[in-house]
Amino acid sequence: MPDKKYTINEVLSLFEETPPKEVLIHFLTTTDSAEIEAVRIAAEKTLLKYCGDNVYYRGLIEFSNNCALDCGYCGIRKSNTKVQRYTVKEDDIVKAARWCAEVRYGSLVLQSGERHDRQFIEFVERITKRIKQETTSSILPQGLGITLCVGEHSLETYRGFRDAGAHRYLLRIETTNDELFKSIHPNQQNLDSRLKSLEYLKEAGFQVGTGVMIGLPGQTPEMLADDLLFYKKHDFDMFGMGPFIPHKDTPMGNLPVMPEEQRTNLGLMMIALTRLLTKDTNVAATTALQALDPIGREKGLSFGANILMPQLTPTEFRENYLLYENKPCVDEEKEDCLNCLKRRVEMVGRIVAQDQWGDSRHFFARNTLFS
Ligand code: SF4
Repeated sequence: MPDKKYTINEVLSLFEETPPKEVLIHFLTTTDSAEIEAVRIAAEKTLLKYCGDNVYYRGLIEFSNNCALDCGYCGIRKSNTKVQRYTVKEDDIVKAARWCAEVRYGSLVLQSGERHDRQFIEFVERITKRIKQETTSSILPQGLGITLCVGEHSLETYRGFRDAGAHRYLLRIETTNDELFKSIHPNQQNLDSRLKSLEYLKEAGFQVGTGVMIGLPGQTPEMLADDLLFYKKHDFDMFGMGPFIPHKDTPMGNLPVMPEEQRTNLGLMMIALTRLLTKDTNVAATTALQALDPIGREKGLSFGANILMPQLTPTEFRENYLLYENKPCVDEEKEDCLNCLKRRVEMVGRIVAQDQWGDSRHFFARNTLFS
């Protein structure tokens, strides 16, 4: 279909069922602005139909940058000796969580590097339990909703995290292409174990999120189309994706990358196609989009995203949690984020939901046994 350009209604009708891979590749490579706008509007309509116009916040606490792994793209990989390592004190994490509840965000994300030692696992369980206890109120009868983002673990460990009170988990696959995965990770890390962990998370009862990096060196539109079909096939509940942004102190820091505008546009197209394919899931407008475009997150919302993650990491630690360079909001006080994000959401005609977990509707549709 080399010359075919689709209208809004044609896009919507193409996505009534899962379209063939060629259709996804067509949209991932189109440069026709009218067609890109048609996809955007179709994705926005799909979002409003299946999820409504609420935007849900997850206050982001990057509680530790200690990591046992060495991903080739990541600024806090264990081999980067320039980073000052930290773990936020338990009381300070809980304090940030209490503030999150007070300003009515409803949910938070606890994120860190990946460690498998018992001490770390117990720490995560303990802070999760304390946050649940200390944020329970008449407004939040079950406390804040907690999403964990702490990497690959055993089924037993995931069950422990779930029992502690976390109910959502984000584990990004980064790419579903085996060769590309190998090219951005050391030999000890592999796609099979990532896939196994995603299965364990479902088995442990989590709402499960994943996502890929967009614009990686060596990545093709065909690979991204496969990633999208993977999202659909494995029935995930949530997605967090962002453009690849090189970090100078990593092995991938000097590789050639596509221009920023192109990477941003590809990231937005991936959000729209994810929405069109998966319909009632939660999709984040990530800060990585804003790193490349000052209004990248607003654009993400208008291409079908419905989740934002305001920074709650205590300011003194943020400089040492740079997974990529030029990360936005590093110096912002959390009170300023509150006002800034509200303005950004209103700019695109959407509403900030308050005191709600904002769970993925898809999860309930696929698992009516959740309690
Ligand atoms: S991406 Fe995650 S697991 Fe990989 S090095 Fe960075 S923090 Fe560690």
